[in-house]
Amino acid sequence: MDLNKLANALIPDGDLIAPEEYENIFPARDVAKGAEVTRLAPSPTGFIHLGNLYSALADERAAHTSGGVFYLRIEDTDEKRKVEGAVESVIRSLKYFGIKFDEGAEIDSPLNKYGPYYQRQRAKIYRSFAKKLLSQGRAYPCFCTAEELDETRAKQTENKETTGYYGVYAKCRNLSEEEIYKNLQAGKPFVIRLKSQGSIENKRVFRDAIKGEITVTENDQDVVILKSDGIPTYHFAHAIDDHFMHTTLVIRGEEWLSSLPVHLELHEVLGFKPPRYAHTCSLMKMDGDTKRKLSKRKDPELSLDYYRKAGYYPLAVVKYLMTVLNSNFEEWYLKNPDGDYRDFKFKIDKMGKSGALFDLDKLNDVSRNEISKLTPEECYAFLKEWVDEFGTDTDREHFSDKEYILKILALVMGAGGKKKRKDIERAEQGVRIIDYFFDDSFKPERVYRSDAQTVNALLESFAEVYDPADDNQIWFSKVKEVAGKLGFAVDNAAYKADPEAFKGNVSDAAEILRIAVTGGPNSPDLCTIMGILGKDRAVRRLLDGRLNA
Ligand code: GLU
Repeated sequence: MDLNKLANALIPDGDLIAPEEYENIFPARDVAKGAEVTRLAPSPTGFIHLGNLYSALADERAAHTSGGVFYLRIEDTDEKRKVEGAVESVIRSLKYFGIKFDEGAEIDSPLNKYGPYYQRQRAKIYRSFAKKLLSQGRAYPCFCTAEELDETRAKQTENKETTGYYGVYAKCRNLSEEEIYKNLQAGKPFVIRLKSQGSIENKRVFRDAIKGEITVTENDQDVVILKSDGIPTYHFAHAIDDHFMHTTLVIRGEEWLSSLPVHLELHEVLGFKPPRYAHTCSLMKMDGDTKRKLSKRKDPELSLDYYRKAGYYPLAVVKYLMTVLNSNFEEWYLKNPDGDYRDFKFKIDKMGKSGALFDLDKLNDVSRNEISKLTPEECYAFLKEWVDEFGTDTDREHFSDKEYILKILALVMGAGGKKKRKDIERAEQGVRIIDYFFDDSFKPERVYRSDAQTVNALLESFAEVYDPADDNQIWFSKVKEVAGKLGFAVDNAAYKADPEAFKGNVSDAAEILRIAVTGGPNSPDLCTIMGILGKDRAVRRLLDGRLNA
């Protein structure tokens, strides 16, 4: 059979560029020896999940700890799954977690020399290589209809055989020249398949960058490389792209391990040296006593949007994921609590070989810890970003007064000081615990432990003597004075000796003031709170705190 003629009939030259030319168009990268070139290659389905972030973090670390490049390629060969705005959402989501691409789709970079970075825009390149394989007799057209393929699959399933297009089932593999041209003349749609040379009898040892040595069975499936619309399958496209984009290390989920034999054969037939592959284990969670994969349907925490909406501190998510990526990160983190995680020596071969356990409680721990370390400015920026996107109009109004919020945060969070508040794990909690500083979100619960008459008398007398210029000590001496006059004990020993003789201790009196001013019995230093609120508001709250006698 004249294979060149066949290749021309199936894939006319048109604007195709000869395959050899691409080596000049995409010359080797100018990176140091040992530098890793990695990529994130998502399909634009709009669902960006924790697994993508986990992979992206490994990609980014592998590239940037070796002086390499991390780029974004969009694998949009499946038009049906494409969602508008998905690419922007990938970039925005990863940027939120501090992960940036050096090059690639929608990235403004002088390094963009290996594009286009959208696979659909590279159709010409794939066709050129498919044509080459046709003319070498390493690929062939297949005219089988979906119904025929379904029938074959049903038969194979019934016979308990491996499903697919191989061996005796590869009906179009041995079509005669005459049959092929007859089909073409009849206008039958066709796909291009690889003419596999492998046999499942043959095994070989493969070195995975994470899993180490694994045994791989050769591929014998005549997989589709170009679909009937001339668009490649993932298998074919990724082999060509990783070769011409000079990827050195492909980090991808272990669900791709089963396709590895196909990928190795494709590289071989294309004459390319395969990149190193690192198959990451799936993220798992404990569900009762069993460990299972995180699922899109059951686990909202799989979606990255979940973390943004819930207001996790992004760096905490990254640091937590680092502990999942490399188990020795935890020790490093303990030794370097304020260190930049980028200083940790990330190693791809130290990644877990099986089931990485994702533990939300541990993430919450890291988040509380990270939030407690923020300066008032950092804390303000973090909370404001959340408020801008997910807060109420009232929250946004509050956060427009930066000066006021900074004072509040310094006190409430202990931000920047020594006594740090360590119970805030998400932005929303941080926003809600300062609500009482604003009249429009102040919702006091006036549950006092003293009778109305005492409460009212105390609030009124303290309102009268309160002076914002007083320091903490004077403030407290005034509380004592007022409380003492109303029958509270000002001396702890006296109170302990005979509690019945008093209306309560001075701290019980202070609690009354606290409830009136902050709405509840627990708060940071009340004198400081009143100072932040300002005289008018503080006094008004004291008086509004009175009960109907
Ligand atoms: N497009 C594939 C996916 O979204 C990428 C796999 C790979 O990284 O090679 O899963």
